[in-house]
Amino acid sequence: MLGPDRFAPRLADVSHEELEDSGIRGIIVDLDNTLMGFRETELGEDHIRWVERAHDRGFRMVMLSNNFTRRVTGIADQLSIPCIPNALKPLPFGFLQAKRLLALPRRQIAVVGDQLFTDVLGGKLCGHYTILTEPIEAKDFAITRLFRLLERWVLAGRRPQ
Ligand SMILES: [Mg+2]
Repeated sequence: MLGPDRFAPRLADVSHEELEDSGIRGIIVDLDNTLMGFRETELGEDHIRWVERAHDRGFRMVMLSNNFTRRVTGIADQLSIPCIPNALKPLPFGFLQAKRLLALPRRQIAVVGDQLFTDVLGGKLCGHYTILTEPIEAKDFAITRLFRLLERWVLAGRRPQ
């Protein structure tokens, strides 16, 4: 139940072609530590280009974040994608809202995020394709650090070398 369908070092390493080959037409993307480092104030060029290319190829996108600050809407505006802040991942409400916005069947939607217990678990509970990225920055909230320890335990031996 907990294993992601795929691992990627960074969002920018996720191949649009491979997503298309897997039948994916919509992407639910996490903000903090996936699109942008926790303490970064600007998006990386590679992630801006990745989102542009996704748009060019016809992917529908939505940002789904547990963060509830103005940061979420600001970054989503910059990327021209709708956003759902305060999503309470892994609970399904935000994911269901995102699926409605994407207007796609659940199997055609990929969830990309850096946390097993919010992004991947929530995505899997809703029947989506899931991709786990490495967190951009190591430093995080205490609760996130606890989850990281549990992640390492759950994923032991499963991550490709
Ligand atoms: Mg995150």
